[in-house]
Amino acid sequence: MTSSDLQILKEQIDSLQELKKNIQTLRALPVGLLQPTTSTGSVTEGLKSVRGIAEEVLGEKLQGALSRAKGSLEADRTDLALAGRRDKRKPRPQTSAASPEIYVGKDRAVGHTSIFPLLAEEGVKMEGLVDWARAFNRTQDCKLRIQDKVLRLSVPEIMTTYMSFGVVEDRQIVVETIRVFGSREAKGGPHGQSGYTAFQQLSQELGKVLEQERVKLQSLVDLVISYSSLFITGCRVCGRVVSSERHVPAVVRRWENDGWVSEHVSCSDGPGVG
Ligand SMILES: [Zn+2]
Repeated sequence: MTSSDLQILKEQIDSLQELKKNIQTLRALPVGLLQPTTSTGSVTEGLKSVRGIAEEVLGEKLQGALSRAKGSLEADRTDLALAGRRDKRKPRPQTSAASPEIYVGKDRAVGHTSIFPLLAEEGVKMEGLVDWARAFNRTQDCKLRIQDKVLRLSVPEIMTTYMSFGVVEDRQIVVETIRVFGSREAKGGPHGQSGYTAFQQLSQELGKVLEQERVKLQSLVDLVISYSSLFITGCRVCGRVVSSERHVPAVVRRWENDGWVSEHVSCSDGPGVG
């Protein structure tokens, strides 16, 4: 490789890194645009920056860098999956480690209908609820409050979840209804409805989970916490943050390979929160 080739490669790497930053900016945009307080001016600004980034991506410079990256990816498919953030997780099976492509699972284990990771410990019981919630609040940014037979779980800056619960024979807490509201919505409760499509759809999905299986409180709370990235996580199927139809975020969740994967209701097939 000559020094001018090297210079070009360096510039291409720089522009790809710039692109990555821009994509992170794009991911954060829907949150801002969905706030009730957002002015028309900032929506226009937001859309302008989306257009600017789109034009840049389509430009000769980035297209050149992207096609070179693709060529180099095809030439060397070794171990890319382990180079990124996955290295903190358990190694994946050899077959997928060789492929950097996004994996779209069609072969979910037959007979395994739960969307949750296995949890060995017992579900929280009525008499341990207050202590458990206190311990939770000490260690988490999300906060739990108990009022009569309603648990309120707030996910900062995103949403507030109301869960009404009952107690079954072995004294375990079983959540019966669940409703989600935007953090800034004035009213909320275990039986109301959010004014936002995103939270209406999320309430529906969580309701389906409660119908499908009896969930331990800890698992359900863990699922709700996973929505703290609701407005920045892309759909595993189409890659978009908000769906092309209806513009709603990816509210379907399933636990796979030590992490929650997200899908839009319109992109999801198979059993899941949906
Ligand atoms: Zn999708």
